[in-house]
Amino acid sequence: MAVRTHLYTSDVWVAHDPGPMHPERPERLKSVHAVLGRAPIANVERRTPRPATRDELHLVHAAPYVEQLLATAGTPTQLDGDTSTSARSVEAALLAAGAAVQAVDDVIGERAENAFALVRPPGHHAEAHTAMGFCLFNNAAIAAEAARRRGAERVLLLDWDVHHGNGSQSHFYARRDVMYASLHQHPFYPGTGSPLLAGEGEGLGFNVNCGLPGGQGDDDYAAVFEGLFLPIAEQFAPDFVVVSAGFDPHRADPLGGMRVTERGFAAMCSALKEVSKGRIVLLLEGGYDLDGLAQSVHACTEVLAGARSERFTSGSVRPDTADALDASWSAHGRVWKRPS
Ligand SMILES: [Zn+2]
Repeated sequence: MAVRTHLYTSDVWVAHDPGPMHPERPERLKSVHAVLGRAPIANVERRTPRPATRDELHLVHAAPYVEQLLATAGTPTQLDGDTSTSARSVEAALLAAGAAVQAVDDVIGERAENAFALVRPPGHHAEAHTAMGFCLFNNAAIAAEAARRRGAERVLLLDWDVHHGNGSQSHFYARRDVMYASLHQHPFYPGTGSPLLAGEGEGLGFNVNCGLPGGQGDDDYAAVFEGLFLPIAEQFAPDFVVVSAGFDPHRADPLGGMRVTERGFAAMCSALKEVSKGRIVLLLEGGYDLDGLAQSVHACTEVLAGARSERFTSGSVRPDTADALDASWSAHGRVWKRPS
């Protein structure tokens, strides 16, 4: 297979504009596109998204919410306190959800080894019945459902955005076929993501939250992956991985309080590529420092395309990271074996 990585891009995603001074601004993608243009990566093919169908949206969202949102197409609308649309935002959201499904289809249909969809608006805060936190449709949850529909048996939805993906957690909370795992700042917006919330019913153990207080960097993220996510993923044995790839844990991010570098994101991406045995799709979520976002997206795209591989560094891990790991294991030690 000559093409390793399908990279979804669209001018409509750039055109989505939540309004003046909004951090989730068109310049985010302009910056990403500029860096990718300056430093092209071999074995990457640009792809054009198509809109999601109602059937695909209904995999995650209630029909009345979908109709209500579609009815606002073309008309700038305030959806919640920090979520607003411009004339082309609904079109952008439909293309974002559509690209999530296309990316999954490309990989499962073996037209690409993996895929990265550089979407706006992001998705992981969107709930079944409501838009929230800059998000209209939950692209990552739709991708995970699409993977299940296309024959994947166990899907890992890993969310490294600095914010907890409340929408993804609630959608899969009672499920064991899709594991939601999130590493986020906690307590922080949106307030969900307690490490003690481990799923319910047959999904108990299949919702993995790790909340860090802020100030953590690459070594701490490495410790959470090596001490929690990777051991659990090895036992869960996913046959498909979807990543809610938010770059707001970057050290320069104006919203997040973390200290992750481009190299740290590349290491997380390398580890997940290995876990997925190559069947992996990344979907852009947050990331508000223009250069940090663009460099980190570039680094992860290099990893996907096979031009780069990063290992976790093993430096000093803060005591509060060790505490966070203990808190997560207190909710998961009965279901999964903790490495000694
Ligand atoms: Zn975020």
